[in-house]
Amino acid sequence: MLKTGSSGGIYIHPWDITEEGIEDCFDFLGDTCGLNELFIAAVYHANTFLLPHNPKRLLRWDEGSVFFPPQHSAWSRTRIRPVLGECVDSAGYLANIVDAARQRDWGVIFFVVFHFSHSTARNHPEACCVDALGERQRAHLCPANPEVRAYDLALVEELMTTYGGDGIRHESLGYGGWNSGFVVDKVEMRPCPRDQFLLSLCFCGHCLERDRRAGNDPLALRREVRDHLFDSLALPPEEWDQGPVDEEWARNAFGGRLWPYLETRCDTVTSLYEEVQALTLAQGGAFMPFGPQQHRHVLGGLDYGRFHPHLKRVSFGCRGATLDEQYHNLVADLQQAPSWAEPEIMHNQRAFSSMEALRDQVLMVRRAGIRHHSFHYYGMSRTYQLEWIGSARQAWA
Ligand SMILES: [Zn+2]
Repeated sequence: MLKTGSSGGIYIHPWDITEEGIEDCFDFLGDTCGLNELFIAAVYHANTFLLPHNPKRLLRWDEGSVFFPPQHSAWSRTRIRPVLGECVDSAGYLANIVDAARQRDWGVIFFVVFHFSHSTARNHPEACCVDALGERQRAHLCPANPEVRAYDLALVEELMTTYGGDGIRHESLGYGGWNSGFVVDKVEMRPCPRDQFLLSLCFCGHCLERDRRAGNDPLALRREVRDHLFDSLALPPEEWDQGPVDEEWARNAFGGRLWPYLETRCDTVTSLYEEVQALTLAQGGAFMPFGPQQHRHVLGGLDYGRFHPHLKRVSFGCRGATLDEQYHNLVADLQQAPSWAEPEIMHNQRAFSSMEALRDQVLMVRRAGIRHHSFHYYGMSRTYQLEWIGSARQAWA
């Protein structure tokens, strides 16, 4: 069950736990850091990781992995198979971690990176986004693709049922940007914001079909966007349209034909989120993270009103230069929290210069009304930074 009242959690990759030894790692997290909740990265994107206190691999490359073997019957509904991480050495790999956490009465929430996946994109290029120029994305799966949606739901169903998660914390469950790609690009000058927005639109067959069913003519729009990009990207930068990507532009661009396409995209992503939310709620879990917003954000591609009534935790951040300013801003922001959701915040222990600075910040947000605290990735932190977390434990005691 999702912890209510208060909690102190940390993001953690499974390899951090198993390479240190599950019990040794958890002893440190419990005794030294005073934590009682884990945000386990069950699916994560490609990266090069520097892991300063890992006893086995100080530097790690990963191409994007899933950290549990597929077992649930939901996998029969999709051809997309999870790419297993190198650290997964047995069928019970993730179960051993979860069981040890439950023995300590800790919360377990799974962090899932859904569509930004170089390894899955390489295995399933047909499931990736396709831009207006016809170029297939090599790092991002398309949320309109039924196989991708079934893959997403299989991930969630497995984590919520096989592993009994308290919730799902999502990342990249919608569309990606044109440049969410390889690590080093050869783009010497970024296109203007409007062209970057247009380059990020997916025109794969599934996106076209969904828009057609909504009564629009997506092929005509694709042609216009492509023609525009061919002209615009070839111009010298001083001739680019430097206007903002705002609603006024989006409603009027391409003779008003862009906006209906964005409405379709918004519905595509929102309905997928709703399916993930339904699976998560059915198991008594929480779908996170969401702030207090509840409007339909067509440009951003999500209708927040569909999630607001179901929130269990609601996320906030700090604004302001001084602790005092941040405190007053946070107290004001928390007025927007719905009565049915408990406020949460994420801290990055690596952003502080001392234990006192971390402790004062965490206790300040507690005074402002934050009940649930989480800290950034365990493995990427240095031991002394992790030790600082323990100094603030009264914030979630
Ligand atoms: Zn698409």
